[in-house]
Formats: sequence, structure tokens, C-alpha cells
Amino acid sequence: MTTTSQQNLAPSEQAQGFLSRDEHHLFIDGEKVPATSGKTMTTLNPSTGEVLARLAAGDQSDVDRAVLAARKAFKGQWSTWTPYERQALLMRVAQVLDERFEELVHIEAMDMGAPVSRLRNTKATLMKMLSFFASQAMSITGETLMNGLPGDVTTMTLKAPVGVVGGIIPWNGPLNGQFWIVGAVLASGCTAVLKPASEASLSVLRVAEILHEAGVPAGVINVVTGSGKEAGHALAAHPDVDRIAFTGSTQTGRSIIQASTANIKKLQLELGGKSADIVCADADLEKAVPGAAMGVFANSGQICFAGTRVLVQRSIVDEFTERLLAYMETLRVGRSLDAATTLGPVISQSQLDTVLSYIDIGQNEGAELLCGGQRLEGELGSGYFMQPSVFGGVTNEMRIAREEIFGPVLSIMPFDDVDEAIAIANDSEYGLGGAVWSQSLSTALRVVQGVHTGTMWVNCYGYIDPLVGFSGTKLSGYGYKGTAAHMDTYLYTKSVYMQL
Ligand code: NAD
Repeated sequence: MTTTSQQNLAPSEQAQGFLSRDEHHLFIDGEKVPATSGKTMTTLNPSTGEVLARLAAGDQSDVDRAVLAARKAFKGQWSTWTPYERQALLMRVAQVLDERFEELVHIEAMDMGAPVSRLRNTKATLMKMLSFFASQAMSITGETLMNGLPGDVTTMTLKAPVGVVGGIIPWNGPLNGQFWIVGAVLASGCTAVLKPASEASLSVLRVAEILHEAGVPAGVINVVTGSGKEAGHALAAHPDVDRIAFTGSTQTGRSIIQASTANIKKLQLELGGKSADIVCADADLEKAVPGAAMGVFANSGQICFAGTRVLVQRSIVDEFTERLLAYMETLRVGRSLDAATTLGPVISQSQLDTVLSYIDIGQNEGAELLCGGQRLEGELGSGYFMQPSVFGGVTNEMRIAREEIFGPVLSIMPFDDVDEAIAIANDSEYGLGGAVWSQSLSTALRVVQGVHTGTMWVNCYGYIDPLVGFSGTKLSGYGYKGTAAHMDTYLYTKSVYMQL
């Protein structure tokens, strides 16, 4: 690992204009409004530890206001938009975001710490998502069904938007992540109140303004910033919210399930993970080593489906480890606005403390720290930077193999045969992602079929396409993202019996 040069890095003029506001208000009914209580909170730049912006700290009364606006919009003119109009809107949104993406990249980089190089690469994914949702706006269909009823009863199903959606968003990638909700809302005719994470709300606020400028009617997309305990809980419990789309930790997912029971909300929950990345002896290591490494270190390990348990067949553990440690030398840690940076900071001091505590836990459990493990000092000392870290000799009983660390920590775990690898992979309460690297198609398919997880990759890691989708199982949550199945959860089905 090396660090990148630390010259003074400035955001683009447009991003600077947005960031220089005294306070970032809530976005309700097409207007920027302060929190009813007048309370504010600060958000920090994780690359420097400095205050980046002051945001409105919304609470129950602000969520009430936003839900009211969303309900009014749901029942209003928006409900008369045709599929053609909703598709045209999504295409316009795609065009505007294409033009404004660099500004959003800078805001997101400074707010949550992902390097600009990584964020720029996500533009193609965002464009695909918008294109996908534009196509879905035109693809909502019910069915005519045969029946065994007497007489001339005609039967069919109709699809209709569920209503007001509460979108609760984590800090690890809000710029693109919000579009799993926004895209489906615009395609289906629902409306939404978004509650971004307090650590990284700015790209969600900025996008809401841009969407409004691009023609999204007032009240269709609202944003209430604030803490999870106040604003998040108020949204999850709100009696006039019909559906919650939540991405975040399993623990918070449980609170949301409990809060949602009063009005039996529909839920889509994308939760934590502890994915296994299985490298077989016949794998092409030229590809498997960087693939497995970036399956963990991308976004500084703050990806739910990071393949943090790297299971390596015992006969190649030494060679794999040697190549991995050589690859680690190519990673460049630095501030998010530096174009040469490949790994940015983690999101906050408290996240850094948590990740570093797992370095101690792993060593105390008997794992061997092969590289990394330290906070970075010197020029990067004021930010939340740490060395990307690799543990060797990890067993699946260790806490570092069982608990989600959500930071740049990779564990190498040896296995003897494929059945053992599948058993280790399945010995986890999570079931989000996973991969197998092998040149044998039958080995790869055996692993794909044997591992109990929502998404599997073969000889690659982390590809996501909305046409294919992904999901979790076990404690990683439920509710498919992508494909028509995603849209289905923003709709309800009405059965119709017509006596003619
Ligand atoms: P988190 O659960 O702490 O917070 C997520 C969101 O929930 C934030 O907006 C937060 O303010 C809000 N929140 C917190 N408490 C709440 C409550 N009681 N009621 C309602 N809302 C509440 O998660 P995080 O720390 O922001 O993100 C990291 C976690 O998210 C990791 O566990 C990671 O695996 C998971 N994640 C999962 C996916 C996925 O697709 N499965 C994607 C990204 C992140």
C-alpha cells in the first residue's frame, strides 16, 4: 500500500456552490425548508475530519409534513401521468444527471469519502438503472385469467402503485443507492420520503433538487435528514407510509420490522453480510487475486456484499497469499478528491474505531496479521484512514470470520475440498453474496448450487445489473432488487371478478 500525494484538493465550482450553503434544509413538497424544531446537525469530511456542512435535524413533525406532501402528490396530478409520461420523465432525469454527474461525484466524495475514481466509474451503472426503470414504467401489466365460475364471469388482475414509500438509506453509497428507490417510485407512480444516513445525506438532498428541476412534481420525492432514532424511526412507524425500502444493518432492520407492524407495511430489507469468496486450486490467480482483493477493499470495505471471508484451497494458500500481499502494494490510500486514490477513508471516527478493534480481536483470537492493521498518521492523520489489512490462518469460529466488520479487512481461510468450502461458506447467519474462482465449470456450478446466499459470482466479483438483480437471504434480508420483481414490491395486485 502507498499513500497518494496530499496537495490541497478543491471540489468543482458547482459542488463548492452547493457545499457553501450555511445550512442544508429538508426538501419537502418541492421546497427547501428548515426543521420545525430549528435543530441542526453537522456532517464531516472523512478525508480531513473537518466539518463539511450543517444539515437540518428532522424529527417526527418533519416526517409528518413530508408524508403529508407525499400523500397529497400521490393522490394529485401525478396519479394521472401515463406510462409514456413517466418513462419520458425518467429519460429526462437520466440526461440531466449525466450532465450534472461530476458535481454529484464531488459532493459524494467529500461527504462519504469514496474516491472520485470509483465514483466516476459508477456513472455507467446509474445510467443503466435509469434506463431500466424507464423501461419498467412501460411494462407494468396485470393478467386476464381463466376461471371455473358459473356464467360469464371475466377475471383479471390489475397492478396499482402501493402509495407512499419510506426510503431509509445507508451512508456507504447513497448517490447511486437511492436510485433503487427513486427509479422504482417514478416508474410505478408511487411517491417517497427519503431518510438518508446522517453521516452522508448531501448527495440525496442535491439529487432531490435536481430531480425537481428536471420535472419531478413537487411532493413526489421528499427528503428528511436527521438521525435514525428520530427521523428514521418516525418514518418506519408512520401510519400513512405504505412501504419501506431499507438498506442498512441487520440490527436496524429488526427495529424497522417492529416499527412497521402497526399498519403492516410492505418491506424490502437489504441488510448485512459476511460473504465467502472461494478460490479453488485450479483458479486463474492472475484474475482471482485482484478480484478477491477488490471484492473486499473496494469502497474501503464498506460494501454489504464484500467477500471478506476468502476461502483458499490449502494447496495454493502460500502462492495466493504471496500474490495477494504483492497486490496490496499497488493500492493507493488517500483523500477522496485525489484522482490517484484507489482507497479512501472509512466514514467516521467511530467506524474507524470499530474496524481497528477487530484488528485486535483477530490477533487475540490467534489469526496472523499479514499486513496493515494501523491507522494512518502524518498528512492523512486528521482523516479516518487505515491501512488495508489481511489476516492469515483464520478459522470460521473466530469473530473476524463471523461478524460484519464493514472496513478494509480480508481474512484468508484455508480449505481442503469443495464440500468443506461450501460448508464453511454456509456456516454464517448471513446470506448476501459469494463467489467461486475455478476453471472447472462443474466445480463452479457445484459451489453456486451449494452456497445458501442471495447472489453468487463465478470468476468475477461484485457485478450488479438491474436486468439481473440481486437479493439476500437469512439475516441479509429479503426483497429482490432489479428485474420486474423489484417493481412488483412497489405495486399491489388487485383481483377483479366481472359479471358481464
Ligand atoms: P444503519 O443500519 O446504522 O443505518 C442505515 C439507515 O438506517 C440510516 O439512514 C440510519 O439513520 C437509519 N436508522 C438507524 N436506526 C434506525 C431506526 N431505529 N429506525 C429507522 N431508521 C434507522 O447502517 P449503516 O451503518 O448506515 O450502513 C452499514 C450497514 O448497512 C452494514 O451492515 C451493511 O452491510 C448494510 N448495507 C447493506 C446493503 C445491502 O444491500 N444489503 C447495502 C449497503 C449497506
